[in-house]
This record gives sequence, structure tokens and C-alpha cells, in this order.
Amino acid sequence: MKICIRCGIEQSIDEFRKQKETKDGYANQCRLCLNEIQRIKRKENKNETTHKYEKTPTGFLMREYRNMESRVTGVQKEKAHLYLGLPLLDRFEFYDWAKSQQSFFVLFKIWENKGYDRKLTPTVDRIDSSKGYEFGNMEWVTHSENSRRGSVSTKRVKITPMN
Ligand SMILES: [Zn+2]
Repeated sequence: MKICIRCGIEQSIDEFRKQKETKDGYANQCRLCLNEIQRIKRKENKNETTHKYEKTPTGFLMREYRNMESRVTGVQKEKAHLYLGLPLLDRFEFYDWAKSQQSFFVLFKIWENKGYDRKLTPTVDRIDSSKGYEFGNMEWVTHSENSRRGSVSTKRVKITPMN
């Protein structure tokens, strides 16, 4: 019998993997605990890889497109009244457009240099908020700039029904 140092349960030695580095030749955590530790580690690694990828221009643009998509399809419920059903350009058209914009690379570089400050995250703003994500209606701004403009257009939307 051996007590697992993680869950504290005393179990038959068969419940412990053989491990050369320990005194008794068995792991200090039971099999179930080791499996769980590995699962957690794998998940952390995966998240880290995703985050790293989203800090490359290509990975970043993929995420930005997903965000735009979730707005116009109404996945983001709280802002659905502002976006639902608006036109959205094709994914690859978006990538081409973004990569042709010097402003994208400038903002991306600033964001990178400032340690990925959330307020400085580049984001696509629609110039005319009654229109969708279409050529001629998109420009790159920082996250905080877009939030500020967003609150202005929210006010406008609230006033409109009273007229
Ligand atoms: Zn255990």
C-alpha cells in the first residue's frame, strides 16, 4: 500500500506507476492523479500555443475575423442589436485587405512593443456603423478607440427610436 501525495488516499501499489527516480520505485502520485496532472498540463500547453499564434499577424487576423463573424451572426448577444445580419466580407478577402493596410502593421507593431496591452489591440472599426464589414467601410483602430466610438454610436441608436 502507498499514500498518494496528491489525493491523500492510501491505495494498492498497483495503482502507482513504476518510476525509477523515487525511493520505492513507484510514483508518489496515484495513476488517476498523474493522468489528471497530465491532462491539465496538456490543456495549459494548448492555450499557450494558441495565445502565441494569436500574436502573429496571421493568427491575429484569424481571430479578428472570428470576432467579426460572431458579431454579425449574433453569437455575441449583448451587441446583437448593433451587428446582427450585417454584411461581412469573405474571410480571404479580409486577410488580403488587412495585409494591404499599412495601418494594420503599424498598430500591430505598437501593440507588440507595448507588451500586448489590451487597450492597444488593433481592431476593425466600421466607418459607417449602419453598414457592415465591407470594403470602404473598414479601418483599423485600437481597442480603446473602438470602445469610445462604440459608446457614441450606442447613444445614437438609443435616441433614434424617439424621433
Ligand atoms: Zn491520487
